[in-house]
Amino acid sequence: MLVTAAAGCRPSGREHRQRVVVIDRSPAPVDGPGTVEDDMRVSDGRPAQTVAGDAPQPRGATGLTLRDLLLASPRWVGTAIVTLLSVIVSVTLAFVAAGTLLPEPHYPVALSIAAVIPLLVATPISWFLIGLYHELDAARAEAQRTARTDLLTGALNRRRFVELAERELARATIDGTAVSLILLDIDNFKRINDRYGHRVGDDVLRHVAQACAATLRPGDHLARWGGEEFVALLPRVGLADAVNLANRLRLAVSDCTYLGLEEPISISASLGVSSTDLGTRALDRLTVLADHAMYEVKRQGKDGVRAAAAVAPGA
Ligand code: GH3
Ligand code: MG
Ligand code: MG
Repeated sequence: MLVTAAAGCRPSGREHRQRVVVIDRSPAPVDGPGTVEDDMRVSDGRPAQTVAGDAPQPRGATGLTLRDLLLASPRWVGTAIVTLLSVIVSVTLAFVAAGTLLPEPHYPVALSIAAVIPLLVATPISWFLIGLYHELDAARAEAQRTARTDLLTGALNRRRFVELAERELARATIDGTAVSLILLDIDNFKRINDRYGHRVGDDVLRHVAQACAATLRPGDHLARWGGEEFVALLPRVGLADAVNLANRLRLAVSDCTYLGLEEPISISASLGVSSTDLGTRALDRLTVLADHAMYEVKRQGKDGVRAAAAVAPGA
């Protein structure tokens, strides 16, 4: 089913808002109408949906663990909490011990010593340990982010995408909902590299990722599939809506005009769309179908969108 494959088409009457790409060497934190959180899961500020398998951490009755409290609060608050707890424990123990070991006139001295020692000892030690804890947690979060992110574009990397897509497909099978997949390949990208150099090519990749992320909806997943190819997974979206979204992605990409050079570079992309509506829930199959559809767009002149054909029964 060919949906659109017209080169350079823009909907008539559409206000043409050109997205201007300027040279920007910083790795792109992606933003736009929706912001992109960890995992390039697009969010509109509402709490991100839980993906099957992301089991919630066990929590106390208040929903807050001591670890959360120590990490969420400033270092001095954590230090104050730990010091206070150690003073309470120390004074309680001293109180019990004093009752059996010391004559009554010595109680005040013993209790004062029991209060002062933790203040002197626990304060610097907990200050140091809580600082270390904060640093380790930040390093762990950064390592986790790096392991699942494409460093150039800020999109998910392929491995993380596959992980998330498998979970979404498993959940969709249980829920009986559709999942769609869009494969996007920038047209004539090699020519951009050859003509303007790899740094400009890298900038274009970053800005295409930004344009896509800003166009996708909350809950969608965007990843760099490899080279100049991106992939989007759309949970709870059927084929027809996915094709509409792919068209919006195509327009968002072609609205990018790269400035900062003597001549503007116009950018376009070819997109293939597949969906569980087509009769398969296997990720490999969905990507192959989208890939075939995308190559058909290339064959027909690029800068277009095409939906994959339905899988033949028994295939
Ligand atoms: P088509 O329209 O048929 O897709 O042609 P194309 O030129 O876009 O595709 P082709 O596969 O011929 O070239 C892709 C180029 O993308 C070749 C490769 O050097 C370049 N490329 C891959 N990864 C990166 C990258 O991270 N940065 C830059 N700047 N270029 C990259
Ligand atoms: Mg390619
Ligand atoms: Mg290409």
